[in-house]
Amino acid sequence: MRTIVMKFGGTSVADAAAITQVMALVRRAIDAGDAPVVVVSAMSGVTDRLLGLAEAASRGQADVVHDGLEELSRRHAETAHRLMDNAAGPIAREIDQEIADLRAVLQAIEVLRHAHPRARDRVAASGELLNSRVVAAAMHEHGLPAEFVDARSVLMTDTSHGQAVPLGDPTREAAAHHVVPLVRDRRVPVLGGFVGCAPDGATTTLGRGGSDYSAALFGAAIDAAEIQIWTDVDGMLTADPRVVSAPRLVRQLSFGEASELAYFGAKVLHPSTILPAVTRDIPVRILNSRRPDAGGTLITGTPAADDRPVTAIACKRGVTVIDVTSTRMLMAYGFLRRVFETFEHYRTPVDVVTTSEVSVSVTVDDRRHVPEIVAALREFADVSVEEDMAILCVVGENLRQRSDTASRVIGTLAAFPLRMVSQAASRRNLTMVLADSLVPDAMQHLHDELFALAGTR
Ligand code: ASP
Ligand code: MG
Repeated sequence: MRTIVMKFGGTSVADAAAITQVMALVRRAIDAGDAPVVVVSAMSGVTDRLLGLAEAASRGQADVVHDGLEELSRRHAETAHRLMDNAAGPIAREIDQEIADLRAVLQAIEVLRHAHPRARDRVAASGELLNSRVVAAAMHEHGLPAEFVDARSVLMTDTSHGQAVPLGDPTREAAAHHVVPLVRDRRVPVLGGFVGCAPDGATTTLGRGGSDYSAALFGAAIDAAEIQIWTDVDGMLTADPRVVSAPRLVRQLSFGEASELAYFGAKVLHPSTILPAVTRDIPVRILNSRRPDAGGTLITGTPAADDRPVTAIACKRGVTVIDVTSTRMLMAYGFLRRVFETFEHYRTPVDVVTTSEVSVSVTVDDRRHVPEIVAALREFADVSVEEDMAILCVVGENLRQRSDTASRVIGTLAAFPLRMVSQAASRRNLTMVLADSLVPDAMQHLHDELFALAGTR
């Protein structure tokens, strides 16, 4: 028997039909001999709605709060009705109780005309607290041995409301007490993601999108064999489908590759959220709840060796290149420090950097302070700025192993003038900068060359 965490995101639990599909997936896992622990997000849109209500309450908009509470209560009650014959039973009272608690917090915010982070967390948590109750009750009625577990009795955190930091050992202890015995009994614990509990008993949240993080934390706390993140896409793709036609599914990638790609927006989940799992060597699988047989993407610390030349390609468009040249840089020290201090002073992150003995070129994404930065740099160097550029990045652990890949990539792009080229120390990425207008053709060309024959795992 493998213990697995199955986490379902907002769109996978958006309504009764989606929850019915979730139940089928959980049943399938049980039939396959797995022991699942289920983690659910709020229904899609609910967290935004709740935070909006906290805002409205802080402005004293009692009508908006009233209507919002009605709507939330109705959405959950209706979903329960569609899923259960017995929806007027205990689940109705549980929904009413949660809505009553929520109303009380919103009224306090309204009276104070202020949404303290502690109050806002309690409001935001309602989405997961409501939904995990509905899902647990529905599973129960449909013959699955589900057991609702209040995530606040398991996920222990500090008191940084809105972005709480999980406490590993207390969470592990709590999980050993509230989750592991259920699993051992062949029951299916159902918990809300995103929410936790501070040492003083206050409800906390892990930050937006935090349910993936919860899933990884629960998985790490119970030494799960696998963590499954069920979402509404098949997994990671070899390129952005908005830029490249027919990208392929990446079957397997390393945590390092996932982190490189996340910067380029190629993220299905934020890699840092699965770090607790990766450090414990627990594989994380991204799966599509609407197409469970699509295969998904497996993320591990160190995937098995394979012969793909690269894993994926990604781009970041609309960046600005700043070239800084000075003959004084020749044989001098301290020049780069002055350059980077200027960017730091204007709080502007620098992304790609290439240097020669007399010049340094950087890209920035945030253009807001470029005029001031350029003026400051001109005090000690020649500066030129080029807008409408793009970063094209090739990512793969195999770049390290196969020395011919980099030359193959650059050779493939022979028709596209490359403005900067950089291979980082990790040697798992090769980064190029070129004119933004060339990106669609360059990406497609490169993708065809690298993935057409290679296939994917
Ligand atoms: N419901 C929370 C959010 O929307 C957490 C999550 O879905 O991951 O941010
Ligand atoms: Mg999410």
